[in-house]
Amino acid sequence: MRIPFYKLFAGLIAVLSFQSATAEEVVVYSARNEQLIKPLFDAYTKETGVTVKFITDKEGPLMARLKAEGSNTPADMLMTVDAGNLWQAAEEGLLKAVNSKTLAANIPAHLRDPDSEWFGLSVRARTLVYNKERVKPGEFSTYEDLDNPKWKGRLCLRTSKKVYNQSLVAMMIYEHGEGKTEDIVEGWVKNLAAPPFPDDTKAMEAVAAGQCDVTLVNTYYFGRLMEKSPNLPLAIFWPNQNLKSKDAGVHVNISGAGITRHAKNPAGAIKLLEWLSSEKAQNLYADVNLEYPVNAKVKPDMTVSAWGSFRQNLINVKEAGRLQAKAVKLMDRVGYK
Ligand code: FE
Repeated sequence: MRIPFYKLFAGLIAVLSFQSATAEEVVVYSARNEQLIKPLFDAYTKETGVTVKFITDKEGPLMARLKAEGSNTPADMLMTVDAGNLWQAAEEGLLKAVNSKTLAANIPAHLRDPDSEWFGLSVRARTLVYNKERVKPGEFSTYEDLDNPKWKGRLCLRTSKKVYNQSLVAMMIYEHGEGKTEDIVEGWVKNLAAPPFPDDTKAMEAVAAGQCDVTLVNTYYFGRLMEKSPNLPLAIFWPNQNLKSKDAGVHVNISGAGITRHAKNPAGAIKLLEWLSSEKAQNLYADVNLEYPVNAKVKPDMTVSAWGSFRQNLINVKEAGRLQAKAVKLMDRVGYK
């Protein structure tokens, strides 16, 4: 039987237009808020013609949604903060491995999943912020030293319920083992000047008010607070920088993304991910939240550069996820609320 030419032609058109429709759209589930990601996606659309559709929510609901939708999910990419969350998503089978030379070249090995299911797109440093009027920077050395009785009644910490300190303690377990880490964190708890604070900013405000002398925060919160109140007597200290004492460096974490297991447009999503790691996008991505670029060829924003440079701890950030449950139990045992 002969198929009329017009029917073949119509079929061909249908196939072509279906392909171009799917190739031109990438769907992102993002735990990063709209004001941080929309400028980037707009720039991507302008450059490539590809539309990026996105919804934003907290990582918990987004991951639950991905799970519930299964193979019907419209999402091609999951974007969130903290390697602990990305590790969890991978663990639950929500992501798929991506083999990309571009991503491997643009993102240092410790800031991406060794199994290539997620990739860091910006670096967040968790460091010491102290009251300049009450302490000299020379009095500080390491995270671990904050367990020293000389800091009794002088330390403030954010709650252990938030993933940030869970990740920090998880990485310390990787570095020191559980026993030594428990001693350190117990020392921190003994040195607390006040019950743990609900967020990094409140902890810094307590330091500024003289309620305590030092706390541990992600630097972008310091940046935001100092933009609002430039006269606060606060400064950053970069701990664990002494090579002679074999210090491993400042604890870093990431915001990042992975391609969903059931992505409808995995090729398009990988292209977007590669673009986000490129020199051009890295400036935009890191600067908008006062974070550090993952791509070593890109310099941080001027405000961020002014805080000085530091050596990063090179532990793979996946340990934040792998050892998170242990970290939570450890903090519970020593009474870190
Ligand atoms: Fe944060």
